[in-house]
This record gives sequence, structure tokens and C-alpha cells, in this order.
Amino acid sequence: MSLWPITLWHLLALIVLVAAVLIYRIFARRRKRARLLATPLTEEQRAVLARLVPMLQRLPEDLRPSLEGRINLFLDQVTFHGNGGLEIKEEMRLSIAAQACLLVVNSPVWFETLRTVLVYPAGFLTGRSDHDGFVVHERDVGSLGESWNRGPVVLSWDHALQGGLDPDDGHNVVIHEFAHQLDALTGHTNGIPILRKGQGYAGWEKAMLDAYHGHVERLERAHPTLIDPYGATNHQEFFAEATVTFFEKPRAMREHEPALYAQLAQLYALDPADW
Ligand SMILES: [Zn+2]
Repeated sequence: MSLWPITLWHLLALIVLVAAVLIYRIFARRRKRARLLATPLTEEQRAVLARLVPMLQRLPEDLRPSLEGRINLFLDQVTFHGNGGLEIKEEMRLSIAAQACLLVVNSPVWFETLRTVLVYPAGFLTGRSDHDGFVVHERDVGSLGESWNRGPVVLSWDHALQGGLDPDDGHNVVIHEFAHQLDALTGHTNGIPILRKGQGYAGWEKAMLDAYHGHVERLERAHPTLIDPYGATNHQEFFAEATVTFFEKPRAMREHEPALYAQLAQLYALDPADW
């Protein structure tokens, strides 16, 4: 008696079983995602956010369910770790999730690769390598936040909290770092995120480069700038800081940088100058 037929049937059954399990898991994940996106926040969660992230109160009424669903999805997907002795509290998770989700409240783009947010109590030291010919100098520099490609976001809670509490000062470390997360979804963090359907690359590039060069020039002449001076570091930092200004000083941006404002409004499908 040959063992062949039995082995072949077993193999086929195994393939069918594995495929069924995979298909079931894909559908289960989709169902869970849809359920989370359709779940509103509780009244307690809303009260925390009204206190900690007042900017959300300006959001048009029709976008609120979408924001709340995304916050639920974010809290389900992302694990928060306290560093430097920080104990993670529910209000920290909520404040950070809400500020991050504001970026994608009206967008099909999502923080697909993000699984971890690390939170320090305040500003933290982070290692940097400087290349000097063949010599690499390692040094620690102070930081308020970091965003790793396909990796974690690292935040100072002091600054994340302050960014949420003051919606108009032009500083927001959470929005800054999560703009980098969106930028990184293309595989390259270079100031060119995944653009919207119908949003031309040429128009994006021209608006960004014109605004970037104007920004650098004003700084060289020691003139005041609407966008934070840190944006002059490179294109990706300019995109992150321009995004902060778009949410925190939208009317000034629409007036002084109309082309840049129009590109960001199309990218995020939002018009905060009208909120
Ligand atoms: Zn940055």
C-alpha cells in the first residue's frame, strides 16, 4: 500500500485549513476596525479631551464622529510605554491619540506601521552620531520628540500636554512627530507624504519649495517667520512645522502662504482657517 494518496490529501487539507484561517483573520480584523471606527468616545473621555485638547472644540460637527472613531482605533492599535519613571495614565493616551488623529480625521491615510509610543516625563536625551571624515562622534542631545520610520514615536509628556493645551502658539510636538509618521509612509521621510487623489506632485513641490526657500531667506535676514525656525533644518522638518502652523495659525498661513495652505488643505482635506 502506498502512502502517497494519504499524504497528498493531508497536504491539500492543510492548505485549505491555513487559507481559511488567514481569510477569517483578515475579515475579523476588518470587522474590528470598522467597529472601532464607528464607536463614539464616552462622556468621560470627551470631558478629558475638552480640557486637554481645546483645539478639538473648533472641529466642524460632521467630523467629530470620524475623530472619535480614529481615536478608538489608535488606542487599540498603539501601546504606550512610560520611560524615565513615567506612569502612563488614561488622559495621556487620550491627549496624544486625539492630537495625532486630528491629522487624519478626514483622510484615508492611517498610521499603519505604528505600534508603540514611548513617553518621557519631560525633554529627554537622545543619541546622535556626527560624521567627521572617518571619525564618528557619538553625543547626547536634548529632544522633545522623535519619530522613527516604521518604528515608535517618542514624546515628552510635558510638551505633548502643553501642545494640546495651547492651540494657538504655533508649537505642537505631537502634530510635528505624527506629520513625520505620515511622511514616512511612502518609505522615504523627505517632506513628500502620500498625496491625495488628484493632488499633483508638481504643484506640491513648487508650493513647498517656494515656501521653504522664503522661510530660509527670512531667517538669514533675521526677519520674523510664521513657521517655526526649526522648519529651516531640511524639507522633512519644514513639512512637519508647516503642518503645525496649518493647524495652529491657519488664518495667518492662508493669508501669508496661500499656496502652501492650499496644498496642506488638500492633503488633509481640512480647512482649519474656517473653523
Ligand atoms: Zn522633526
